[in-house]
Amino acid sequence: MNMDMRERQQAYVRSGITKPATFREQQLRKLKEMLERYESTLLTAVQRDLNKQSSEAYMTEFGFVYQEITHALESLTAWMKPVKIKTPPSHVGSRSWVQPEPYGSVLVIAPWNYPIQLTLTPLVGALAAGNSVVLKPSELTPHTSRALAEAITATFSPEVVSVIEGDAKVASALLDQPFDYIFFTGSVAVGKIVMEKAARHLTPHTLELGGKSPAIVDKTAKLTMAAKRIAWGKFSNAGQTCIAPDYVLVHQHVYESFLEQLKKQTLKLFSERTADGTYTQIVNERHFKRLCAYFDDGTIALGGQHDMSTRMIAPTILTDVSWESAVMQEEIFGPILPVIPYDNEDHVLARLHALPNPLALYVFAEDVAIQELFTAQVSFGGGCINDTLMHVANVHLPFGGKGPSGIGAYHGDESFRTFSHQKSLLKQSTTVDIPFRYQTGKLGEKVIRK
Ligand code: NAD
Repeated sequence: MNMDMRERQQAYVRSGITKPATFREQQLRKLKEMLERYESTLLTAVQRDLNKQSSEAYMTEFGFVYQEITHALESLTAWMKPVKIKTPPSHVGSRSWVQPEPYGSVLVIAPWNYPIQLTLTPLVGALAAGNSVVLKPSELTPHTSRALAEAITATFSPEVVSVIEGDAKVASALLDQPFDYIFFTGSVAVGKIVMEKAARHLTPHTLELGGKSPAIVDKTAKLTMAAKRIAWGKFSNAGQTCIAPDYVLVHQHVYESFLEQLKKQTLKLFSERTADGTYTQIVNERHFKRLCAYFDDGTIALGGQHDMSTRMIAPTILTDVSWESAVMQEEIFGPILPVIPYDNEDHVLARLHALPNPLALYVFAEDVAIQELFTAQVSFGGGCINDTLMHVANVHLPFGGKGPSGIGAYHGDESFRTFSHQKSLLKQSTTVDIPFRYQTGKLGEKVIRK
């Protein structure tokens, strides 16, 4: 059915039905109504897959999508307008503009960690840009995948949006087809496979990947606040957040006091939930075992409790960690936070320059020079000064990585740009016909050299 569906979607977009703003608005409203209608089904599914509680899921899964839909509905008319572009004097008589147009049938491959948000947020941008979409949710969150498939099938005509459920094999078969755009969110390793597959059809694509995102705590930082915001950013969703601080580098002057605060704030924020069983689970046994193996890479300063039967790992702080250990070589993607002291900013910079560009970086400092040092001298996708995660929740900020942490960006206005081809046009006058434009000899050269 897949190939048929892609071809049907491509023909549908080509027919022009999806071009008018009214059609696109209708699809966005349908999506909003779908979220309202299927809210409890979807929240139950996420809870079954990840033990993610409704209040948290509502904020981090639904909240994002609603925000994107509202912004798209407000901005759509302006986004769709042709953009007038300057025309040089040598082109006298003509005018130029850029007309955004849909790509066609877009393939969205999503991960499991925010299974609703990361499937539907790209959908908002793709629909606003007038595309049709095939969604491939993650097989690691099967209840959510099923619930999304049911909700989408009941809401949209398949020529506009359809869901194909399945694992890597299914995703791989989809990638063999000539979609018009691929939007992939997931691991660096699979990102490389996606890019190779996209190259075969020269399909434009966005890769939203991961990696190790550092948090740096300077000696001038407000330590209690830094500890609280880092603990919240790391341990929410059990650390299964692509932009969670992966590890913390702390100036040695404040290392001990920061560590004390970090333990205190972590307990304050999460101990109740680990005790009453409402803390988010690790997605599966394989990841649970992978994470528990990191306990041996340092000294457990807090946490370490884990229970295979519920796949729960308590927020864990690791100290005495070496840069060569597995926990510092691999993306952690779980509730384990190494904390490492530093004595010199140049050493930190040298370390970070030797590592792949992170998806996010967080710097905690009152000293503006330190804030600027790290934000200017390290290349990373996006981040915060004196906070964690919050940049992703600002619909007006483009979100994406750089190189190994991702290619391209989306959210808000950037989503519309991402999912639109920018068609360049020049309209020439037929009432005047300036002779010098046909000159290829000396006169032409003279005009160009001017
Ligand atoms: P993953 O790469 O294993 O899987 C992502 C998707 O790719 C799934 O739908 C899966 O079925 C599919 N897939 C798996 N193997 C494939 C293959 N060989 N060919 C084609 N498709 C294949 O990632 P994951 O475990 O679901 O998610 C965790 C990773 O995603 C982490 O690295 C995290 O940092 C990253 N992530 C990034 C963002 C972001 O916005 N940048 C957001 C969430 C997660």
